[in-house]
This record gives sequence, structure tokens and C-alpha cells, in this order.
Amino acid sequence: MTESCEHFSEIQPVKARTNGCEECIALGAMWNELRVCLSCGHVGCCEDSEHAHALHHFNSTGHSIIASFERGETWGWCYVHRRYFDPMPGKLPKRRATLAAIVGRLRNR
Ligand SMILES: [Zn+2]
Ligand SMILES: [Zn+2]
Ligand SMILES: [Zn+2]
Repeated sequence: MTESCEHFSEIQPVKARTNGCEECIALGAMWNELRVCLSCGHVGCCEDSEHAHALHHFNSTGHSIIASFERGETWGWCYVHRRYFDPMPGKLPKRRATLAAIVGRLRNR
């Protein structure tokens, strides 16, 4: 059983807003891995990526719970408690289509 923290009350049944990092797409930048905000469905790049937009999103909105947006990964993370939840309880947003994401990355290079 995965323990939760009080920030789980922020979790909404969101849909991912994009298949790639919203800010990187706007910048034409590349990312490494993706994280999805479980409060609003914002998709941002991880802290290993050049811009770390998932962390920026937390800093600007206070949305503390994210989950991995990588296929086959089911973990979540609370920025406030700096804690992993694996597997993340509940339904995680899924990518719509892998191919579309790849095409999107190439187009935005
Ligand atoms: Zn928390
Ligand atoms: Zn980004
Ligand atoms: Zn958010």
C-alpha cells in the first residue's frame, strides 16, 4: 500500500493538456523526460532536462503532485514533501499517441 500525503486532496481527474512539455514546445526546446501535473494536467519536462519546466510549474502554481508521463512508469512525486509514491494510486493521465509526440518533437526542433 502506498501512503499518501495531504496534497493528494489537490489531485483532480485531469487529462494531459499536451503530449510534450508545453513550455519547451513554445520555445522550440528539447526535453529529456516528462512529468504531468495531477492538479491541472500541465505537462512539463523533468529536472534532468535543460529547462525543468515541471519544477517551474510547481514554483509558479504551487501544484505539488506530479506523476511520470513516461510509458510504463507509474510513480508520482510530491514537491512539498519531496516524496515518491510508487505506484501512484488512482488513474494517471496517459499519452494520446506516441507517434504524435515524436512528430511534435521533430517539428519543434
Ligand atoms: Zn505532500
Ligand atoms: Zn520544458
Ligand atoms: Zn498544475
